[in-house]
Parts: sequence; C-alpha cells; structure tokens
Amino acid sequence: MTSESINQGADRLRGAPARTDQGMGSLVRLPEFPFDVTVSASERQAGLRIARRAGAAQRVLNRILGVETRLSLVVLSRDDWRSQAEVSTYGVTHRARDGRLIVGAEPADAWHSVSDYFAHRLSPRARADLTAVHGVDPTNGRGPDLRALAETLIAHEIAHLCATQSRLAFPRRWLEETFANHALVAVLGETDPAGLRRVRALADAGATLADALPTLAEFEANFGSMDVIPSVLAELAITRSAYVAYSVYQAQPLVRLFAAFRNSRLSRDADYELGRMLATRVHPSIAAIPLRFACARVGRAA
Ligand SMILES: [Zn+2]
Repeated sequence: MTSESINQGADRLRGAPARTDQGMGSLVRLPEFPFDVTVSASERQAGLRIARRAGAAQRVLNRILGVETRLSLVVLSRDDWRSQAEVSTYGVTHRARDGRLIVGAEPADAWHSVSDYFAHRLSPRARADLTAVHGVDPTNGRGPDLRALAETLIAHEIAHLCATQSRLAFPRRWLEETFANHALVAVLGETDPAGLRRVRALADAGATLADALPTLAEFEANFGSMDVIPSVLAELAITRSAYVAYSVYQAQPLVRLFAAFRNSRLSRDADYELGRMLATRVHPSIAAIPLRFACARVGRAA
C-alpha cells in the first residue's frame, strides 16, 4: 500500500456524492471529521464512535511522532460489507486497494470464539476477574465480552497506516506489530483509560495461556495464515510487553522505534545483530520481547 494510492482513494471519495444508493446499500458521509468518513446509514452511531477513535489515534500519533496520518475511513454494516469490502469475513479491518480503511460497524464474529477460548481455559477466578473488566459475552454467556475491546483496536490499524505512510521498514513482523501495539497502548493511555484496562486485563489473562502461544519464529513464518487463537495470543504477548514499556517509559520506546526504522534500508540482520541494535538504538524493553516469548514457552514446558 503506497501513500499515492491512499491519496487517490481520498480524491475519489471527495468527488463522490454525499449519499449513494446505487446498488451499494445506503452509505452516508460524516462531514464533521477532518478526514473522509463514509458509513452505512443504519450504523451511523457506530460510525461516529469508530471515526472519533480513529481521529484520536491520528492526533496522538501526530503529537508523539510528528507525522500526520492521512486517513479515509469506511464503516460498514453486514449488508454493505458484501458489496463494499475486499475481505470476505465480516468485521476484519483492511485497507482497500484504493487506500480506504474498511471497518465493520460490529466486531468480527471470531471475537466470540476468542472469548469462548478464554472462558474454557481460565480458572473460574481468573475468568471472573476478566469478566469484571469486560462484562460477559452475550453469545457464549461465560467468557469476556470483547466487543468494546475490538472497537479500540482501530488505533492499532491507524498505527499500521502511519508506519506505511512514513515508509517504516521493519526487518521483522514482530517489530511491525510491536509498533502498532505500542501505539495502541499510548493512544488508549491518553484518551481512554478504561479501554487500556480492558486491553491490559486480556493481555494479562493471555499470558497464563501460553501453551497455544506460537514461537516468534512461527509467528514470523505464518503471520496472516495462523489460526485466530495463536494469532491473538501472540498479539497479546507483544501488547503486554508494549504495556510494560509504556508504563515505565511512556512513549519513548515508540518514538525510538519510529526513528530507527524510518527510511532505513536494513537488511534482514541476524537475530543477534538485530537484538544488539534494538537494545542500543531503540530501547532495551523492545529488544527484550523475543526473550519474553521464549520465557513464556519455557514456563509452559516446566
Ligand atoms: Zn497489526
């Protein structure tokens, strides 16, 4: 995804009529935002909420990193998803070919399965602690209600957009996800403390379920094709590290991560060299993430 294609997408949207019913459901523009927002007419409230969150992420990242993320957002109902989205599964956030960020007005159904997994695997006490923060999922009646958390993850997606537009070149996928998850934590830390508590509670609970956590090598090799549970557990493990880094050093590791990989032409260095570079040029808390993964796996085997 290039910045050029994002600009083109924005231009196309600007030239579009405010309301369109040409076989595409009923989409409306929300003019109150400083970026393009198009929503399914039936999901105006969700569209407003999600666009506000996207705007907050854009503002916080601009203040922390000094770059303005160009943004064109589309929030879709299930009906409109079929005709407008480019990924078939409802609610899976993605960048369309024209650069627009496509988001479901409701979270993807897979979040109910994630909730169910936590419900079955956690001890009754740990499950009670988690549902005290999240509420109870109305579908399975046992696990945490992850719908509010899922909506906060728009900040993670805006961070990926920011990284792409700023031409960050991460030599490992886990670093790319570290950037997005650290940004998520920083945005929620500034704008939504309750949202940060939800993320933290799930990440802490996930850390006790390390038997389905992939190794970092598996995460690198299979990113995008992994099953939902190992994928979510890996993202939560990275988020937990980012949370620890943020709680001690605030946004400093994020700023250094951004600076170190901007316009960089690093080859895929050996892990040892990369670790040394991360510890000295980025932040020890970021360099420690592979060790945290390894420790979780060793803890599981013990
Ligand atoms: Zn990501």
